[in-house]
Amino acid sequence: MNTPFIIPVFIPHQGCPHRCIFCDQRRISGRDRRQPITPSEVRTVIRLWLARSRKNRERTVQVAFYGGSFTGLPRPRQQELLAAAAPFLERGEVHSLRLSTRPDYIDAGVVAFLKDYGVSVVELGVQSLDDQVLAAGNRGHSAQQTRDAIRLLRRSGLQVGAQLMIGLPAETTRSLTKTVREMAGLQPDFVRIYPVLVLQGSGLARLYEQGEYRPLSLGAAVIRAAWMKKYFTAYSIPVARLGLQPGPALENALVAGPYHPAFGELVNARLMLQRTRRLLAGVEAGCRVTLTIADRDQSVFRGLKSANISRLEQLGLLKKFTLCLDPSQPRQTVTLTPGS
Ligand code: SF4
Repeated sequence: MNTPFIIPVFIPHQGCPHRCIFCDQRRISGRDRRQPITPSEVRTVIRLWLARSRKNRERTVQVAFYGGSFTGLPRPRQQELLAAAAPFLERGEVHSLRLSTRPDYIDAGVVAFLKDYGVSVVELGVQSLDDQVLAAGNRGHSAQQTRDAIRLLRRSGLQVGAQLMIGLPAETTRSLTKTVREMAGLQPDFVRIYPVLVLQGSGLARLYEQGEYRPLSLGAAVIRAAWMKKYFTAYSIPVARLGLQPGPALENALVAGPYHPAFGELVNARLMLQRTRRLLAGVEAGCRVTLTIADRDQSVFRGLKSANISRLEQLGLLKKFTLCLDPSQPRQTVTLTPGS
């Protein structure tokens, strides 16, 4: 996936009358809902980010309206925010606009409006494609509304991102498997995978304190996310993010749950270990091979605190290979060649 340079604009909770059980947008974004971002602030944010030095000036630039449910805002408000970004699009300083919203806030009229303003990517808070899980999470929409929204967006030529959660109340292995399989069939352009965290002030925090919700352990969340990533990758659907963006606002609000600031790295390290073990399983005792990885994957190969290396040693596999670093090797892949 060609990853654009993202200019983030946060619009927390505006336009969203819902209160999903896991959500505490206000705290995550650090901005109170009584201080809505103004068009002039949007322009300032874009200018400031454009002025930053960028390593790669070739990357396309995308303004992303994050948080809240953009298409649930009053239409004039949506217009003023999108119009604030329009001159940058016209001048070619920004190449695309992205926003996030709920599946039930998408219909043909909304899609036509977004296209008129140059929006090219819509991210949907899907969370699950199981109606029981959606109801337990107080989402207020059905799985069918998500299917309809994704199909409509794709038919209209917009790119679609799907945000999925693991560890929601009422989730089972079966409901998660069903969600992932069905989502792969809907072919979004990318997905994001977030383990559910218990945040202060959320409905989930109350359930947790009453002993009615038990979050996933970090290990269980990593195993599930790794399986999901493997599944989506097999369908050529990129996983754009694993785990919430770490930061002090999130950490201060965290009550419980599988939080790790490098959650994505834990998942990628697990997948790398699986690939390595699979390759080495076929190497006969006494033989030594070369394993090649991308040079930027060294820490993923080692795992956090060299956990993967320790595991390979325990399994007697460390002596079976010589590691070779190659900048041209695709990221997160391992290739075996005979001989060391
Ligand atoms: S719809 Fe989105 S913004 Fe609104 S409460 Fe749910 S998660 Fe939060």
